[in-house]
Amino acid sequence: MAESTPLVRIEGLHKSYGHLDVLKGIDLNVQQGQKISLIGPSGSGKTTLLRCINYLEEPTRGSIYIDNELIGQRQVGTRKVPMGDKDLARMRAEIGMVFQRFNLFPHLSVLENIILGPLKVQQRDRAEAIEQAEDLLKKVGMLAKRDAYPDQLSGGQQQRIAIARALAMRPKLMLFDEATSALDPELVGEVLAVMRKLAEEGMTMIIVTHEMRFAESVSDQVIFMADGNIVEQGPPQQIFRDSQVERTRAFICAVK
Ligand code: ADP
Repeated sequence: MAESTPLVRIEGLHKSYGHLDVLKGIDLNVQQGQKISLIGPSGSGKTTLLRCINYLEEPTRGSIYIDNELIGQRQVGTRKVPMGDKDLARMRAEIGMVFQRFNLFPHLSVLENIILGPLKVQQRDRAEAIEQAEDLLKKVGMLAKRDAYPDQLSGGQQQRIAIARALAMRPKLMLFDEATSALDPELVGEVLAVMRKLAEEGMTMIIVTHEMRFAESVSDQVIFMADGNIVEQGPPQQIFRDSQVERTRAFICAVK
């Protein structure tokens, strides 16, 4: 069977900061419903790749299409020009991102944090946004904290709220950038459990993580990056257990 159009299509992506080439030609397709983990040594370009996908970073060269639409740019003849702010906001709303730091608004309650985007960015109805927020709070096991403020919550609880907040925009795609790296070890599991549930429900996810066991059990594909390149891509079994690539094996061996 022919593969359907990928939800994310990355072609020849390069990103440089001055003379530092951080991404050196990334090609990647992500199909609807796929879970992809990005692993690799610190500084290999994983975060930069994620940030290019929702155009928090502007690619130096190459193209990223979300659902067949070029993100951040418009094609005018043979040239690409920046996309208008409104179009970019519309496309970004379809891509949820969860960061290492939770970035909740400290002066807003849990519920207010979650409904802010739906109300302000998507102009949705308040009663509907609240109803959805409560459903999402149930999903992440946080309904009891609906009216709490972020500083009254543990890091794990804040991160679960950050996930609910991203989901409130009804994204097509979720990006996780080391979502558990800033957490105390005993709080990591509750966040991974929420991510696993989301994966089981069919969400398309790209996950930068150091949690190798989680990556192995949840991903359809694992990508090992080093020095701004994809060194190897394959099913978890291939990358974690049967890799024939010396660089991958050395990395897996060092982190296991
Ligand atoms: P990883 O997520 O794999 O640890 P990053 O994508 O964070 O890697 O970083 C890759 C490289 O790009 C690093 O050398 C980092 O210092 C550099 N880098 C990232 N962001 C910037 C920036 N805004 N300006 C300059 N260099 C950056």
